[in-house]
This record gives sequence, C-alpha cells and structure tokens, in this order.
Amino acid sequence: MNESSGKPAPKPNRMSAIMPTYNRMDVAFERGEGVYLFDDQGKRHLDFLAGIAVNALGHCHPHLVKTLQKQAETLWHTSNIYRIPHQERLAERLVEASFADSIFFTNSGVEAVECAMKLARKFHYDAGNEGRYRIITFSNAFHGRSLATIAAAGKEKLTRGFGPMPEGFDIVPFADIRAVRKAITAETAAIMLEPVQGEGGVYPFPAEKLQELRRIADEEGLLLILDEIQCGMARSGKLFAFEWAGITPDIVAAAKGIGGGFPLGACMARAGVAESLSVGSHGTTFGGNPLAMAVGNAVLDEILKPGFMAHVTDMSALLFTGLNELKAHYPGLIRGVRGLGLMIGIEFTIPVRPIILDLLGEGFLAGAAGENVLRLLPPLIIEPEHVDDALAALDAAIQRAAES
Ligand SMILES: *Cc1c(COP(=O)(O)O)cnc(C)c1O
Repeated sequence: MNESSGKPAPKPNRMSAIMPTYNRMDVAFERGEGVYLFDDQGKRHLDFLAGIAVNALGHCHPHLVKTLQKQAETLWHTSNIYRIPHQERLAERLVEASFADSIFFTNSGVEAVECAMKLARKFHYDAGNEGRYRIITFSNAFHGRSLATIAAAGKEKLTRGFGPMPEGFDIVPFADIRAVRKAITAETAAIMLEPVQGEGGVYPFPAEKLQELRRIADEEGLLLILDEIQCGMARSGKLFAFEWAGITPDIVAAAKGIGGGFPLGACMARAGVAESLSVGSHGTTFGGNPLAMAVGNAVLDEILKPGFMAHVTDMSALLFTGLNELKAHYPGLIRGVRGLGLMIGIEFTIPVRPIILDLLGEGFLAGAAGENVLRLLPPLIIEPEHVDDALAALDAAIQRAAES
C-alpha cells in the first residue's frame, strides 16, 4: 500500500485483470430469455450451447427465477453442520428418480468427480483392501481441472506443466474392453467413464460395451463410476444417459444442468458404497447450501414433469434428421453426426472455429469439441421452430465455408 494516497502502488506491467485461461469470443451478453441471449448491442442470439449444457431450461426460466428470488429473501447459507431441509428434499427426490441411495452435493462438476474417486478408494479401504486404489479411465476423456481429474484424463493438453501428476490412473483406449481387462490388477478400484464423452468430441460409449464393463466390474469387484456431468440430467432424453444401456452404476457424478445455471454438482452412489463417506471423511463449505438446493429442486420440478424426456427425444430426432440431411448435402465438409439426445457433435473435415465465429456473427451460438467437431447442446426446452432456425443457420454457414 502507498501510505500517503491510501491506494496500492501502480503496477509496472499491466495485464488483463482476468487470468488468460480462455481465448474468449468478442461478445458480451446482457440478458437471456428462454432459448435466446441478447448481447450488449441488443442483438439476439439463438443459444444452442446453453453455457455448455448448463442452462438446461434456457435462460431466466420463470420458475427458477421465482424460486431463487424467494430463497434470496429467506435464507442463503447456513452450513452443513446443520440440517438443510431443501438439501434433504432434493436428495430424496434424486434418490427416488434414480439408481442412487445417497448423495453428496458439491458446487461444481470437478468436485463431484473428486468425491466419486475418493469414495471409490474409501470403499475398498473400508473393505480391508487398502491396496485397491487405481482407477481405469479412457483416452480422450474429460473429468475436470483439478490435479487428480487431469491425471485421470491424462491428456497432454490438460497435464502439460502441472506435473508431477497424482498417481493411480490407468488410461486405456476409448471403449476398448480388451484393454480394460488387461489393465485390471489387484490394485484396481474402479472404472470411470463418461457415457457420452463431451469435451473429447461427443463420442457415445456403445451401450453393449457399457454392459460389458458392468459385468467385468461385478466379476472383479470393481466400482463403476460414471461421469454424467455433461450427458446427465435429461440431456440424453433420460434422466441419466446410462439408462439407455439398462445398467446400474455404483457412483455417478452430476453437475452442469442440475442447477440450470446455479453452480451445483452431486456425487450420487448406491447403498453399500455411499456409507464409506462417513462422518468427518469428506465435506464442503458451500455445497448443498439453501440457495443452490432451492434452485436444484426447481430444476427437478421441470425435468420430472410428464412428457419432458419425450420432448427431449422428439427434438433430438428432428435435429438429427436435419443434420443428417446437411451431411448428405455437404459430404466433403461433414464427416459425421453423432451424439445422444440433445448432446450432438458434427464432425467436419475442417477446423470448426471459423464456422463458430461465422455463426456468432449470424446470431447463432454453437461450441467446439476439439479441432473439428462442432458441438450442439441446446436448452432442453427448444421447440421445432428453433430446430428449423438452427438448421437454417448451420446450412448457410456451411455453404459459406464451402465457398470460401
Ligand atoms: C464440465 C465437465 C466436468 C467439469 O465440471 P466443472 O463444473 O467445470 O468442474 C467434468 N466432467 C465432464 C464430463 C464435464 O463435461
């Protein structure tokens, strides 16, 4: 501090006050309404990225707004050293609606995965198998940005410069079941995967292979951990994407859509496993606080309404039909269309960033997943007219890319 002025001394090298972790697009949004965002120039954008699968109910959904306003006037935060009725209610409802018997709430996806991995280790420890701590993961995965989760994914792009990495991950090629069998040792605790890889390029894990992993986990006494942070919470057309494979996991990490834009995550587990997070073994200051839990309950009110999942599946079918027509129309540019529900990747033969910037100029928001995959994660409340508008915007942008 500069004593005389009371202001800090001027800094010699001014840099951005925000750490330079993102190559941000030059647009700032001021307001959101349903499937639309409005930027600070007043321009309207059709949002087919939804904050990367977060705004599952679109922007400023009236029920979420009302719930948050009411809760803001009532109670924000207490502590997990007290009972939190909204938390109990959300946990009971999620248990009622899913495979899980017990839930730990977090503020983010990465914390939910950390909790899942800690739980898997503790489960084996409690069973007297302290030496079982390793987790088998798949190449091209994404599980978050903590030291343990970048080690779990193993990708050089995530880990470079941050070593040494925490120990205990065996990474095998995507969906390679023989490699999984070979990687299992007396030290293996769990297998962890995304039922649909998101950041890695929107790759659904084949259902029959997921079933095989379940059998292997049972035979070997391993836990099956699913990272449903992106593909869960109705995005696939079911509450969780694994339901399409008809299997039951042991632990699931959820986040993104679960709070509809409020920071919220959950580590969900079945009975027989969840008990291992015993009193004092794990904790969180913010996780599961009254504000977050009120909003989480409001999100669930909407997602669990009859017909919600069917709507997601219907919109998905419309989008896939249109996108496959685009693929047929531009075989030189579009290599494939894949995904599940409203989590869709369009693989191009060219880098997609220029296409995304072009679409941004036209008021259509899409994302990338790697170099060549354009990713669509629209709000789950889109209607057929939004699908039509999206397909028209994509068609025009691909046409321009073809001409350039
Ligand atoms: C986004 C994501 C995460 C990390 O979630 P954060 O909230 O950013 O910590 C982990 N796993 C998957 C599959 C994700 O899509």
